Amino acid sequence: MKSILFVAPPAAGKGTQSILVSDKYSIPHISTGDLLRKSNDPKIKEIMKDGTLVDTAFTVELLEKRLLQGDCDNGYILDGFPRTVDQAHAYEDLLCKLGIPEGIVIVLNLDKENSRKRIIGREICLNCEAIYNELFEEKKPKIKGICDKCGSTLTKRIDDNNETFENRYSIYLKETEPLIKYYENKGIAYHVNSGINEDYTFNKIQEIIGGVNDKH
Ligand code: AMP
Repeated sequence: MKSILFVAPPAAGKGTQSILVSDKYSIPHISTGDLLRKSNDPKIKEIMKDGTLVDTAFTVELLEKRLLQGDCDNGYILDGFPRTVDQAHAYEDLLCKLGIPEGIVIVLNLDKENSRKRIIGREICLNCEAIYNELFEEKKPKIKGICDKCGSTLTKRIDDNNETFENRYSIYLKETEPLIKYYENKGIAYHVNSGINEDYTFNKIQEIIGGVNDKH
């Protein structure tokens, strides 16, 4: 199983799809956002609150520690990294250093207004990582504020507001979107429409993974 990177605008479904892929193929889900959220450094918290990017060297250091854990030996899903072409270069250096083969890149396509609604309405379960949305009927929890799966109280991320969304989206367009061309040129980018529903997106991702695994 190859490692899988996701490149996508905010809230295009990287987190949700990562969990589905992780469960189906038994490989870990690594989110640099989650690794950074665990940091107690107030400067990191401030940067994340604004939606700007944390220093690459610091992020790579956290990522390296995570990739060295034995559960990554059979592949992993990387969600939220790289976010810039410079980070893509840093990632290639890291793969070289750790002797990990290059994986595939899944690009989730979603328009800006849907991205905004998914951010503003998002509620998450910190216990089991389930994701809900109060602005989409089919994504509301059965009981307001409570996780359907584990019964924990749902929370909102501090950076899930309209102002931070605009900032994150413009960073995405300027810094992250160029990665799509970068990986297309390398021949490892696969596009999926993420605006239909979760099942559709997950089926397309499974087709891609199946096709790639068949080739190897
Ligand atoms: P996410 O959970 O992927 O939406 O990331 C939340 C926030 O964490 C981002 O807005 C950034 O502030 C920070 N972050 C996550 N991944 C990276 C990364 N690869 N490089 C720099 N900052 C990151």
